[in-house]
Amino acid sequence: MEIEGIVQGVGFRPFIYRLADKHRLRGWVRNTGRGVQIEAEGEPEDLASFRKAISSEAPPLAVITELRCSEQVPAGETGFAILASGGGESRAMISPDCDVCPDCLAELFDSTDRRYRYPFINCTNCGPRYSIITGIPYDRPLTTMAPFAMCPACRAEYDDPASRRFHAQPNACPVCGPRLRLSAAVETDVAGDPLDGTVRLLREGRIVAVKGVGGYHLAVDAGNEEAVRELRRRKQRDEKPFALMASDLEEITGFALLDETEARLLSGTERPIALLRKKEGNTIATSVAPANGYFGVMLPATPLHHLLLQGNFSALVMTSGNVTDEPIAFRDDEARSRLAGIADAFLIHDREIYARLDDSVVRVFQGNPLFLRRSRGYVPRGVLLPAPQRSVLAVGGELKAAVCLTRGDQGFLSQHIGDLKNAANLASLEETVVHMQRLLDVKPEVVAHDLHPDYLSTAYATRIPGISTLAVQHHHAHLASCMAENGLDGETLGVIFDGTGYGLDGAIWGGEFLLGDYRGFRRVGQFSYVSLPGGDAAVREPFRMAISWLHRTYGAKLFDLSLPCLAEVGETERGILLRMLERGLNSPPTSSCGRLFDAAAAILGVRSRISYEGQAAIELEALAERGMPGAPLPFALSAEDDRLVVDFAPLFRTMTEELLAGVPAANLARRFHATVALAAATVCDEVRKNSGVNRVALSGGVFQNRLLSEEMVTLLRARGFDVCTHRLVPPNDGGLALGQAVIAGWSNAPFPQSLR
Ligand code: ZN
Ligand code: ZN
Ligand code: FE
Repeated sequence: MEIEGIVQGVGFRPFIYRLADKHRLRGWVRNTGRGVQIEAEGEPEDLASFRKAISSEAPPLAVITELRCSEQVPAGETGFAILASGGGESRAMISPDCDVCPDCLAELFDSTDRRYRYPFINCTNCGPRYSIITGIPYDRPLTTMAPFAMCPACRAEYDDPASRRFHAQPNACPVCGPRLRLSAAVETDVAGDPLDGTVRLLREGRIVAVKGVGGYHLAVDAGNEEAVRELRRRKQRDEKPFALMASDLEEITGFALLDETEARLLSGTERPIALLRKKEGNTIATSVAPANGYFGVMLPATPLHHLLLQGNFSALVMTSGNVTDEPIAFRDDEARSRLAGIADAFLIHDREIYARLDDSVVRVFQGNPLFLRRSRGYVPRGVLLPAPQRSVLAVGGELKAAVCLTRGDQGFLSQHIGDLKNAANLASLEETVVHMQRLLDVKPEVVAHDLHPDYLSTAYATRIPGISTLAVQHHHAHLASCMAENGLDGETLGVIFDGTGYGLDGAIWGGEFLLGDYRGFRRVGQFSYVSLPGGDAAVREPFRMAISWLHRTYGAKLFDLSLPCLAEVGETERGILLRMLERGLNSPPTSSCGRLFDAAAAILGVRSRISYEGQAAIELEALAERGMPGAPLPFALSAEDDRLVVDFAPLFRTMTEELLAGVPAANLARRFHATVALAAATVCDEVRKNSGVNRVALSGGVFQNRLLSEEMVTLLRARGFDVCTHRLVPPNDGGLALGQAVIAGWSNAPFPQSLR
């Protein structure tokens, strides 16, 4: 019998050993390069129930993707044995990092256990994996545990097939394993127990850098306003929310609202950050998540966190250990130097982190996870592709970079890498590609990249020697990403609402209706083009988009409107912007849905300038959630060439008039969301009439907006559409590489991509 999937390093062989014993079978089990191989002999009914139990009772971290059986002549074995690893290709999969299991947790808090309060406790059912693995096969010498020689007690567990720690590669104890150390910022060790010392410092309102699974966090008492503010000041982070960590679900219900799905997601071994609605009158410092309806919350993700949270904090701020826009620090010396001006002390240890991993971020949408960032806890889990394909490396976009490598019918999306304009992130992307190729043991046949000629990922892809490349249009990749994770094939209508993507006509696309599949697409609808005054500057300053839209209706008279977002614009700047718009200078056309939300946010007085990506839309959504539903705002639909064009100029005119007439901004924000959804559903209806295509895929960064997603899905389902959304990878550019990979896998002709 051969089993493939995540079956190594997760206690699979001891599980088989015990299971065989229970079913009175004889034979053996061993690891191979592809997974696990079993030979078993016994009574037919015992063999049948054994086989069934393999799937139904598998260890918690195991994922079986394939189970093949063949009959053989009995070899006349006398007992059941665990054999040394056999040969075969290296195709086994590596497990993601996960939180401590219930058995280890019980030992952690058992004062008679030899691992009492030992922060590096683990077993085959739990602990670090991807972050510590340096190569394959997954074996202790190829992990960052290599320098630690096991003591006799640990060695005995490691060698005992009946133990939970049989071949647990990171197995360790206080005698032989990694150790904690608390040091002051000036590199002097703080006397006493490092954990007690850390709790004391946090209680005093100090900032402590804590080494986690995939990098450093900056921790501070979340109930201490002054301390949180100081952290913001030192991190140079104005408004972007900080993540929280609380000891258990009950503690979370003290400051946030929680439904069943959210509770389950939070408690899973992946330990993501979930966005939870704030509870009125909570005791969390207001500067944790200003102007935001949500808290990002996670439960402890390592034994060390479990121990820290025993310090009776309602919650700790646990934000990435970096200065804004830099990657999270994960190597000790680098953390020391980069976080020196931020942290008062460092809680560190001597188990090295090999792969940098940020925390994953999810929100719940209609009972399913909606990923905003897919990283620690989920990587390197594969996504099942619609069909086996040639191996592809896809390098993703630029701002939320992540790469994807395919092997057979599996797509492996890397951890979140971040903005490639930061040199450290670009270097990290290159390292990740090398590491993933080694772990998966594949050599891609083609490299897929974005159509944007100036993306740094494009430049990287074209630099790789001796391999053909394929340029994929940004929104086509979004469509394919959503189709692929839903296992779809055949014509689908993609509603792609996005911030920025390079279009086939050179314009900045982002409010797109694409009819197609992995082989190609037709742009059957779009949001009308509007000027993006100042290019990238308009992304940072949403008031520019408001002016661009209002200019279409009011011309130069727009500045007579008494809107707060206009009051801030000085006389000189007004002149410059008007000239830009009138002469089309430095004002590329865009159909971006993200910018449409920016314009609405600015007009409604939510935000004229942003300090982090997506801020205006996030705050607009928060405002809309407080508003009353009402009549949709007007929009215009026309046919140009063979394409439908939605024009929102009437919407902005009515919105402005009603706002000036005293209609609450929250109600207008709510109606704005509903109107965008209605406009999209109307286009879908028209496209269905002409094409007969009834299946709609929703993708693009704008679908991180839960209110809009909700409105869209409801409207489309009511009209009888079959609607697909993202559940496994982010709808934003973090999921882009998956789509690129499948498109390249299905295209056997190199560039140019054929348009049907
Ligand atoms: Zn465990
Ligand atoms: Zn030991
Ligand atoms: Fe995008």
